[in-house]
Amino acid sequence: MLGDVRVRSRVGFEPERRGSHPYLPIDFRILHCQPESAGPVSSRKIRRLLSFQRYLHCSRASRGVATHNPLHILDHDYTGQAKCMLEKVGSWNFDIFLFDRLTNGNSLVNLTFHLFNQYGLIELFQLDMVKLRRFLVMVQEDYHRQNPYHNAVHATDVTQAMYCYLREPKLSKSLTSCDLLLGLLAAATHDLDHPGVSQSFLIKTNHYLAALYRNTSVLENHHWRSAVGLLRESGLFSHLPLEDRLNMERQLGSLILATDISRQNEYLSKFREHLDKEDLCLGNAGHRHFILQMALKCADICNPCRPWELSKQWSERVTDEFFHQGDVEKKHRLEVSPLCDRQTNSVGQIQIGFMTYVVEPLFNEWARFSDTRLSRTMLGYLGLNKAGWSGMLEEQQAAVAPETDPATPDDDDDDANSKVLPQGSEES
Ligand SMILES: [Zn+2]
Repeated sequence: MLGDVRVRSRVGFEPERRGSHPYLPIDFRILHCQPESAGPVSSRKIRRLLSFQRYLHCSRASRGVATHNPLHILDHDYTGQAKCMLEKVGSWNFDIFLFDRLTNGNSLVNLTFHLFNQYGLIELFQLDMVKLRRFLVMVQEDYHRQNPYHNAVHATDVTQAMYCYLREPKLSKSLTSCDLLLGLLAAATHDLDHPGVSQSFLIKTNHYLAALYRNTSVLENHHWRSAVGLLRESGLFSHLPLEDRLNMERQLGSLILATDISRQNEYLSKFREHLDKEDLCLGNAGHRHFILQMALKCADICNPCRPWELSKQWSERVTDEFFHQGDVEKKHRLEVSPLCDRQTNSVGQIQIGFMTYVVEPLFNEWARFSDTRLSRTMLGYLGLNKAGWSGMLEEQQAAVAPETDPATPDDDDDDANSKVLPQGSEES
């Protein structure tokens, strides 16, 4: 699936080299991509200006290769059904995968535009509708369609979840239009141009982004700077005073940077402290911003709190992306990152750990802050999904167990250890 990256690199798909950083010859643009014939090497200048994904679009178009997702006019039936779905865009059971199919892969543009319209943000900020649509199309295109998980559908899902949180009573009565605008913008752009690999992968392969951001919140910094680049390129806010624009860009950065999962405890402790002291005052702009950060963090990792059918799909996709990275690491004899080895991990195990140590603590605090029906629904699904994965793991282990000698289960420690995990479970 990855093809031979070295051979491919001679025909115009070499990784971008910036400055003099030594570089492992791995091309992130083809990590999750089906092999395709290489085209002429004529657009290096363009490529340097574009994100990975838009370069791919560009190069396909210049070779006359149809993109997977032309923005052509949709079937009336599909458009009607998509519109119908948008009437219930605040529902926690919203099927984002169905919505993406009905919009022909344009879920991010359609859903975000709809929410901007619904909140009256277009009139309030005197936004040019053509510029807004163009901006959203660029955002959608800059997500990598090939990534199993970190793609535009994930961004749409996070935006939809963010909208659900913005509607919660505590937030809806205190947030300003500016907060709403920033919350939605941050959700839509929070993983922009994600390469489908982790920060540790970028660091160990000496990727220029790791050097640029000094190995700190490398991906999040890149998502933010990419979003700012598109805001400026589209001129969406060009009619606003420079000071306001810069302020918005800064706040957008602060929201996106909060999604760095390695800083989870820092945010969670601060949240807990505020809740213990009961000192959150949403009339205070700083406190409102902090709640927006927490809301975005919840939206970003809310997959395990969705109904099983949706949640399970996300779990399989994220595992697929992890295992893909592990395969590349093995191929290049790099140390395989945690959770990325398909021989020693499974979807269920990864999910149970993630739910227990990351999702539950965050959503328990969120439910303390916003004790509503939605919070109880989310915790309810979280419990059910965790039980679902545990049940599946038990079944797998029971299926493995008969192969061992039932008469002497405890007489050999090594044997017992090898029975703990099902070997070679490749669920995705
Ligand atoms: Zn994300």
